[in-house]
Amino acid sequence: MRLYQRKVKIVATLGPSTSTEEQIENAIRSGMNVARLNFSHGTHELHLKNIQTIRSLSKKLNAPVAILQDLQGPKIRVGQFKEGQIKLERDQIVRMTTENVVGDENLIPTDLLSLTDIVKPNFKVLLDDGLIELQVIKIDKPFVLLKVIYGGVLKNRKGINIPEAQLPIKSLTDKDLLDLDFGLSNQVDYVALSFVRHGRDIRTIKEIIEKKNSAAKVIAKIEMLEALDNIDEIIRLSDGVMVARGDLAVEVGQSRLPGIQKKIINLCNELNKPVITATQMLDSMVENPRPTRAEITDVANAVLDGSDALMLSAESASGKYPFKAIQTMNEIIFEVEKNEEKYYRLSLENEFLSIPSGIAASACLCALKLNAKAIVCLTTSGKTAQIISGFRPQVPIYAMTNQISVLNKLELVWGLQTLLINDYKTMDEILSQLDNMMMKFGIAKTGDRVILTLGQPIELGSKTNSLYVHTVSDCLVSKLENESLPLRFRS
Ligand code: PGA
Ligand code: MN
Repeated sequence: MRLYQRKVKIVATLGPSTSTEEQIENAIRSGMNVARLNFSHGTHELHLKNIQTIRSLSKKLNAPVAILQDLQGPKIRVGQFKEGQIKLERDQIVRMTTENVVGDENLIPTDLLSLTDIVKPNFKVLLDDGLIELQVIKIDKPFVLLKVIYGGVLKNRKGINIPEAQLPIKSLTDKDLLDLDFGLSNQVDYVALSFVRHGRDIRTIKEIIEKKNSAAKVIAKIEMLEALDNIDEIIRLSDGVMVARGDLAVEVGQSRLPGIQKKIINLCNELNKPVITATQMLDSMVENPRPTRAEITDVANAVLDGSDALMLSAESASGKYPFKAIQTMNEIIFEVEKNEEKYYRLSLENEFLSIPSGIAASACLCALKLNAKAIVCLTTSGKTAQIISGFRPQVPIYAMTNQISVLNKLELVWGLQTLLINDYKTMDEILSQLDNMMMKFGIAKTGDRVILTLGQPIELGSKTNSLYVHTVSDCLVSKLENESLPLRFRS
């Protein structure tokens, strides 16, 4: 199997386990399509080094990689402890404080300054993705007294969720604004916004991006109860979505998670927005070289649900087996994609409201009925390629463009492989480059049929309006040696 044959993409979070150039190269070789930089951790200096390393490796390996900047958002956290962690026992009474102090066995500091105003007796306070549960007994400024319902070890800076409280917080904190400015200045491809609650959160960040003249796209992380009330608007305004199951499960109650995951993915598929399923997909691989059966099945089911991409967090960032985790995800996805019933979501019910969607649907139908080897989409923005992906054709889709930034962005989208071409003015120039690449990369041979979508007249850079059924001509080039191929076409 070659990497280009996998349809669902892999987002891997970088961290201490994937920080050197060698490790990042290993991650790309193992199948990482999108590198997630988690701005809840790390300095700008460190993130900059990662961005530079990814861009240079991407060139060296001839493998586009999208960079996703994940902004921390208004996440509330516990502070630091004397020993780095404390142990909480069932029925123990602890105090939380909004004062800036170092905590101990009976005192948990937090950065949520309004804590004492927004909680009431009996409210649940969940720590570390809900692993630890506390219940509010009494408020006594600047302290809140709590009883431990489910105990455990609480480490420095773990997250806090208080699902019943209305948090008086902005969607972009001061830290997020600084981080965003840094990310845009360094040309990240995607910015993920955490704890989105309303469509206006997306509008706000898009305005900032526009002011900076950046082409970065926005991913809405769905991880709050409030976001579910506004889900349609949020998805419509975003360029992509992440089902952020870590916080989402805590917020909505764990048993509602699977249903909500499916609902969000369905909506994204309908609205043709890339959707990432995230968190704990192969969690046991943080410690072990093999996943549990439940995790294998979770990865497979997220593919069947219709995800564009699946994400690794601690597995690749700080786990013991970062590359094994990526390879394991790669294998599971590849295997489940052999299921033929999942392809071609084409019917007369689909909306074909724009010319590109009409062309895209026809291209998929043609490819299926004419038994084409590939759909090739000549694109300057990646838009039509994304629409074609939405119809989930089984035949490989190649987005062909002369814009490197478009190539990188499309790494997140289901089934899209990319071909970089030189500037062109005529159909001849396009077809000869295409034939050449397909032969060199070993993805088609003389006489194969290929469905091409493009905009005509070509010399005017027109938007997609045409479909051309091409037969690969005899162009006297042979396939490159394995090591000279772009990474994802190697065997
Ligand atoms: P996080 O987001 O890892 O930044 O918290 C993902 C999630 O909540 O699942
Ligand atoms: Mn989260």
